[in-house]
Amino acid sequence: MNDTIAAIATPFGSGGIGVIRMSGPDAVAIAAQFFSRTRTGPPFTGNLKTHQVYHGYFLDSGEVIDEVLLIPMRGPKSYTAEDVVEIQAHSGTVVLKQILECLLSGGARLADPGEFTRRAFLNQRIDLTQAEAVADIINARSTAALKFAAAQNTGALKHQIQEMRNQLIQVLSQVEVSIDFPDDVPRENDPSQSTADIDSVMDRCREFIRQHEEACFLKEGICLAICGKPNVGKSSLMNRLLSKEKSIVTALPGTTRDPIQEAMTMNGIPFVVTDTAGIHDTDDLVEIIGIERAKDHIRGADLVLFMVEPGTALSEMEFKKMVPLDKRMLVVVNKIDLTRDTNGQAKPGGPGLPELPEICDQIPKIHISALHNQGIQPLKDKIMQLCIGDLTMDGSAVIPNLRHKTALTKALSFLESAKQGLLTGQPEETLAIDLKNSIDLLGSITGETASIDILDTIFNNFCIGK
Ligand code: GDP
Repeated sequence: MNDTIAAIATPFGSGGIGVIRMSGPDAVAIAAQFFSRTRTGPPFTGNLKTHQVYHGYFLDSGEVIDEVLLIPMRGPKSYTAEDVVEIQAHSGTVVLKQILECLLSGGARLADPGEFTRRAFLNQRIDLTQAEAVADIINARSTAALKFAAAQNTGALKHQIQEMRNQLIQVLSQVEVSIDFPDDVPRENDPSQSTADIDSVMDRCREFIRQHEEACFLKEGICLAICGKPNVGKSSLMNRLLSKEKSIVTALPGTTRDPIQEAMTMNGIPFVVTDTAGIHDTDDLVEIIGIERAKDHIRGADLVLFMVEPGTALSEMEFKKMVPLDKRMLVVVNKIDLTRDTNGQAKPGGPGLPELPEICDQIPKIHISALHNQGIQPLKDKIMQLCIGDLTMDGSAVIPNLRHKTALTKALSFLESAKQGLLTGQPEETLAIDLKNSIDLLGSITGETASIDILDTIFNNFCIGK
């Protein structure tokens, strides 16, 4: 980290402003070589004060490349905690590249992907969970995802993990004292304080794991699968939910053969909606493949919208063939316009409500008309209620990602073994190993004990300039 790195920090393409960023010991000096307060030079020789905005020109061999704003930020009060310079120019691919090339010729090196954030981490300005939150903020595809990433970026997860780790370090130090001074410090006859500490950390691990399992879909997208017999109106509902004509709607059964998937957001929560092939008995090979794929999507869904239409009956066997019973499900009775008028009165001569097997009694139901846009908002409300429940969205919650969850799960199993060891009077050395392993695993979440491989995996997923 003794060198100075530079990169274009804004996306390529034309725009109002583009930013080039440098970080490292020579950042200010390199920028000053090319900066002048006037169009005709000479280069600025005064003292560039920290956290001030300088208006001027970026010159290459005396020739103006662009009119710019230059912002020096001396470390440690900067993004990387090193000396940082940001140059705001007009955003065009050529102008930004030319400025970058000048900085590289002046002594900077092109930054690797994520290297600015990696430096912020290595200089201990942020921990690994905050670095990951930066990537999550950049990649957020919904307001909910952004909220959780922003909470994590403030260090909410870091603080909790550090507390848990410190609690275990206390327990470990007790154990280590009795290893080092077995005669002076007899083994605790009553290990209740240590087991209580371990229990409390285990509870918090379990709670985080549960939060990941229950709520990570808020970040990644809730999977909704629309399924049912052919022609019940699955594609029409998909289009209603997305407010566009994505799925082909026809009066011919079996139009949707391959599952059609689309992303959308509802109340700021990301959803991935899949319109699946109508499930029915068929000899058509293409349809059979489509139906198998539909079943895969149904198995993987967080919520299944099971569609039926008036004037039909469904046997228990047919129902079981379509959806596994353990799925979270909502029965959507479509084409309600055929049975009821807009006042909710039964239409004379219209088909009756569909007959469903008894096992559907406990499943929530809703009546809609996808064609006439009736009941769509209540359907959306019901979907939200079934998926989100009363989960708080106040922005204070943190949701561990898969990497955190994996480390927590492993830490939990070492803690279980440590607790058993304490209760059954196993040697201190074995206890110490279990405790150390769990402490290291918690440390890998915040980065205190993360290996180079973990760091590479995290930062290589960043874009250059971040
Ligand atoms: P899918 O095969 O389940 O995807 O069904 P489609 O969405 O392709 O619809 C099949 C037929 O039902 C089309 O002719 C639609 O216009 C019609 N349809 C869909 N929804 C409704 C509805 O709410 N009321 C009525 N009357 N017809 C509908």
